[in-house]
Amino acid sequence: MFKVESLSSRIGKIQILHSLDFHVDKGEIVSIIGANGAGKSTLLNTLAGIYTPVEGKVTLQDDLISGLPAHKIVGKGLCLVPEGRQIFPGHTVKENLTLGIYSKYYKDRKHVEENLERMLELFPGLKKHYHRIGGNLSGGEQQMLAIGRALMSDPKIILLDEPSMGLAPKIVNEILEILVRIKEEMGTMVILVEQNVKAALKVADRAYVMDQGKFIMNGTNEEISSNPEVKSAYLGIK
Ligand code: ATP
Repeated sequence: MFKVESLSSRIGKIQILHSLDFHVDKGEIVSIIGANGAGKSTLLNTLAGIYTPVEGKVTLQDDLISGLPAHKIVGKGLCLVPEGRQIFPGHTVKENLTLGIYSKYYKDRKHVEENLERMLELFPGLKKHYHRIGGNLSGGEQQMLAIGRALMSDPKIILLDEPSMGLAPKIVNEILEILVRIKEEMGTMVILVEQNVKAALKVADRAYVMDQGKFIMNGTNEEISSNPEVKSAYLGIK
């Protein structure tokens, strides 16, 4: 289980996150939705150790990870796929995938090969372009590569910041289906931050609604998608 208690975070002198509490259970996709500037990216960056929380506690399977530097947090099993598909554009697909492996696994060549096989099975589009330069792939393929790279280190939890951004609906659906497979087949916990609320609620088990750095609502995807406020503010349904 992944548990966040009373988490507050600041950027410079401004407090962005205000005492957040939430959790993700094993094999669960939890979505965080909210308008532009609500604090969703700040939350993911704080969980990943890019920003240090000013208050609160984050535990991953009883391991305290808040306060650790970002690379140590990766080693504990939390991987962030940041906004904007940050792959290594000058490297091939294969290199991008193997560069994603946390150092403790790198010497185990057999495990690396097994994980590469697994990624090519999950993302058949990447198999076709295995030796191509990452920067020459389409936006959707680059997003899949970024997710594949994060999965190469066997994370217990993966955090995705707006994976649907700028992609065609068909590609968004493919990515969402892959997230469901990751959860079901690998038991990985998933936190999905999305402005595409409709898409996020399609695959999430539960969702939290964020406004000005606070959670104003949470529930199962059915509860959240049928809530009148969510319907009018985020789903465009009157
Ligand atoms: P978006 O989807 O637009 O990225 P978000 O919900 O992810 O929105 P954040 O990017 O976390 O929101 O931003 C939360 C608040 O923090 C906003 O008011 C934003 O202006 C502010 N903020 C974010 N990054 C910085 C920064 N580097 N310096 C100062 N303020 C920042």
